[in-house]
Amino acid sequence: MIHIDGSHNEGGGQILRTALTLSLATRTPFRIEKIRAGRKQPGLLRQHLAAVRAAAQVGCAEVSGDAINSQDLTFAPKEIVPGDYNFSVGTAGSTTLVLQTVLPVLMLASKPSLLTLEGGTHNPAAPPYDFLAMAFVPVIARIGARVHTDLITAGFYPAGGGAMKVKIEPATNLQALVLTARGEVRRRTARAVVANLAHSIAERELSVIAKKLRWEPSCLKSEVVPSRGPGNVVILEIESENVTEVFTAFGERSVRAEAVAENAASQARRYLAADVAIGEHLADQLLIPMALAKGGIFTTLAPSRHTHTNIDIIAQFLSTRIRVDMKDNRSCAIEVTV
Ligand code: AMP
Repeated sequence: MIHIDGSHNEGGGQILRTALTLSLATRTPFRIEKIRAGRKQPGLLRQHLAAVRAAAQVGCAEVSGDAINSQDLTFAPKEIVPGDYNFSVGTAGSTTLVLQTVLPVLMLASKPSLLTLEGGTHNPAAPPYDFLAMAFVPVIARIGARVHTDLITAGFYPAGGGAMKVKIEPATNLQALVLTARGEVRRRTARAVVANLAHSIAERELSVIAKKLRWEPSCLKSEVVPSRGPGNVVILEIESENVTEVFTAFGERSVRAEAVAENAASQARRYLAADVAIGEHLADQLLIPMALAKGGIFTTLAPSRHTHTNIDIIAQFLSTRIRVDMKDNRSCAIEVTV
């Protein structure tokens, strides 16, 4: 039984989700205490519970402590069962985070799975659907994952009501990921998306992007999408020779549209100014699939607390070595050796 201190380092939901994934992959039971101890509302929230329940179903696990606000959980998986699953996160909890909890083991299973996930598809502080589909899935395809995603309805925080379908076929021919250079930028797209809000919000956002990033009008698109509640997101897609990265910022009540666009633009600028292939978020999310496949190496921005946390939890479950080589104070190479 592995013991995990849930308050370690980043101290949020990620420690729990990473432990669930690695416990499934290695069939090693674990106990986690002090779950989200440092957060305003400590313990398991509905979206963390949804990840626990999804992992328990996929891994036929025995679980104790799986209740709202619980700070102590034990999880003991038996076997991985690929197949058709419906995971409902509740109103607006992030469906992509639940997906990322079970995806690394289902992609390595011997039979396909079809998942329907309901809840939030566009949440702040989680990978938005577009990031999942355009950045995360294409990169893990390079290590052999065969994943196809379909957005059924967008669900924005706080109303939620979104849904996506994800088909996962058994990985063939696992490869090490080697992404040390992004290559020339080939295409830039800025999308300003609104649901149940004034279209002018999207137009104001695009004009900030045009000014701050000097992107041509042909790169800018506004979109109106149906959703249960109001929502606004700016999505910047940077397609380079070797990799596509996606940067997003969400509209919020009392935050001006211009500030939302500036936030997205500054993330894109930071990435473009550093000579790296992978952005901050993709970096922490790639470590688990890489550690469970054939490892590899990528260049990225200075590691976030999420990245450090994943490195530490991976070390508790696997003998994989992960090395961070800082190039300067804003970029590094991360090498995963299995
Ligand atoms: P936690 O804060 O522990 O719940 O973990 C959040 C996860 O969502 C981490 O893997 C982050 O990298 C990821 N994440 C947060 N914001 C974004 C974003 N804008 N785009 C992509 N991934 C994100």
